Amino acid sequence: MAEKSFNAFEMAQTQFDKVADILELEQASRDILRNPMREYHFNIPVRMDDGTYKVFRGFRVQHNDARGPGKGGIRFHPQETIDTVRALAMWMTWKCAVVDIPLGGSKGGVICDPHNLSMREQELICRGWIRQIARDIGPVNDVPAPDVMTSAQHMLWMMDEYEVISGGKYPGVITGKPVGQGGSLGRTEATGYGVVFTLREALKEMDIKPEDTIASVQGFGNVAQYAIELYTQLGGKVICVSCWDQGDQTSYTFRNKGGVKLTELQKITDHFGGIDKKKAKDLGYEILPGDAWIEQDVDILIPAAIENQITQDNVEKISKKVRIIAEGANGPTTPAADKVIEKRGIFMIPDFLANAGGVTCSYFEQVQSNMNHYWEKDVVLGNLDAKMTSAFIAVSDMAKKEKLYMRDAAYVISVNRVAHACRLRGWI
Ligand code: NAD
Repeated sequence: MAEKSFNAFEMAQTQFDKVADILELEQASRDILRNPMREYHFNIPVRMDDGTYKVFRGFRVQHNDARGPGKGGIRFHPQETIDTVRALAMWMTWKCAVVDIPLGGSKGGVICDPHNLSMREQELICRGWIRQIARDIGPVNDVPAPDVMTSAQHMLWMMDEYEVISGGKYPGVITGKPVGQGGSLGRTEATGYGVVFTLREALKEMDIKPEDTIASVQGFGNVAQYAIELYTQLGGKVICVSCWDQGDQTSYTFRNKGGVKLTELQKITDHFGGIDKKKAKDLGYEILPGDAWIEQDVDILIPAAIENQITQDNVEKISKKVRIIAEGANGPTTPAADKVIEKRGIFMIPDFLANAGGVTCSYFEQVQSNMNHYWEKDVVLGNLDAKMTSAFIAVSDMAKKEKLYMRDAAYVISVNRVAHACRLRGWI
């Protein structure tokens, strides 16, 4: 039977319901955690470069802030929907809880395609987004960050607009800012490195040496590139990456069985993580269909592109050789595909654990911004490694002790922590 059309929020709720049953959560806890606390939908009018006006739709969803101020990125995407933002806000709540940082879960978005917008138009969207939401975010209640197709530059425009409105300096209002403008060293690397810190621990547990492993990666953006960098430094070999091709409106896989070379590929990649097909071919890469990354004979799969990529339709293509899936992206695996992966005994490092390095480093940035004192890069990355490693070990211990799938074990820890905070506050 085909999976019904993908809705990220329904998927997030399905995952939550499963864990609520495992935990035998009382009805009030289910009610408070199953839906966002509050959400904002608004218009952002922009005077375009050609003089016409265009109105963009923006969102901010605050899922739960019982453990601390909301935290979560802002995505610019033409297919952005409120349900995707709701799901991502919910996953942020679990993500902050699993790494045990004192933050809640939020997410934002704008329906737009930066490929077709000038930098000036993007700046006006950023400033317009802040004007609509300034009174409902801030260093002590909800702190945005970059995400898909938003960057340090976008964050700086947003911080600047917030400071104009608020009449003061508030570097703690937003994270992912440029270094030297309140940003933290190590933030750019944090998510991709964090994926590999958890992968390294999984390999250790399975008594496998990284240098004896081969991986296939979906995506070639921020998360994928830094995951590849650290994984290859540990001795692993990546034979495939894939990316979206804006011109052809489809995705492609780039394979080099001898191992992809990160720096040579970065030179022919645009800032959206799109690789130039012709130049890759000249460098000797095989250009394969977009889905080919999933069916390679590798030990490790790292989906690090977008949600809804490992589905009932392609999960059976995963090679018998695959031992670990480390989810760099948010929500790359649908519940139906997840059941197959669990049954096959593949070791899953679930998204909100594997990719929590970004928010952990954002938390470090917030701490540094609020203190106006900035740490050396090795201090940031050392603290990140410690946080990711202890979170991984806690989840893995829980999985072994309670005989749970890794995703369920991570959920049990997070949902318990958030429900406990709600109870302590007297909300339920
Ligand atoms: P990015 O925009 O830098 O890169 C995305 C990459 O995915 C690009 O290479 C793009 O071409 C590729 N891609 C897009 N659609 C594709 C498709 N259909 N098939 C194959 N490739 C496709 O984004 P990013 O920051 O690397 O984020 C990737 C994922 O990780 C997202 O799910 C994001 O929500 C998640 N994430 C990012 C961070 C972060 O700090 N950047 C933190 C946590 C989670």
